Amino acid sequence: YGDPNQKIDYVFKVVLIGDSAVGKSQILARFARNEFSLDSKATIGVEFQTRTLVIEHKSVKAQIWDTAGQERYRAVTSAYYRGAVGAMLVYDITKRQTFDHIPRWLEELRGHADKNIVIILIGNKCDLENQRAVPTEDAKEFAQKEGLFFLETSALESTNVETAFTTVLTEIFNIVN
Ligand code: GDP
Ligand code: MG
Repeated sequence: YGDPNQKIDYVFKVVLIGDSAVGKSQILARFARNEFSLDSKATIGVEFQTRTLVIEHKSVKAQIWDTAGQERYRAVTSAYYRGAVGAMLVYDITKRQTFDHIPRWLEELRGHADKNIVIILIGNKCDLENQRAVPTEDAKEFAQKEGLFFLETSALESTNVETAFTTVLTEIFNIVN
């Protein structure tokens, strides 16, 4: 995951938001360190993790911010959103409530973040198909209506995690270039 001496052309801040236990920290662990844990404890104190990747021959350092137990409504501070150029709005496909809360998260995000922020809606835990509570079509329709990218992921099985990040980062890259 990258040469530490490599020169960095861009640093993009991306924030993870969504209800508690939807898998935000595991999505980040999968992307930043290719790790996954089934008994993940709330990571206290760690503000962000980074991974550098190459987009169109430029090195892009993704600085991904994770909430540390601030998932209650309106508890995420404006400092968290400050400078963010991308956002991942995560729900759990097996918990309808986490999807029903997405409009709130989106409203909060739009109230705090830059108006050109690139947003992807993520339905995580797609490995648990037999417990699905949110039809893919419902989420797709919502994303389309709100102008968001959309993917279903599994941090456990590593499905679409890489694609979710590269979708956001490439779109940001194209906006700044
Ligand atoms: P956060 O509160 O949003 O950061 O959620 P965590 O990343 O801490 O994950 C909450 C729980 O869901 C943990 O037990 C994880 O192991 C589990 N989890 C996270 N992602 C997945 C996934 O893709 N599939 C399954 N089956 N479990 C997951
Ligand atoms: Mg977490």
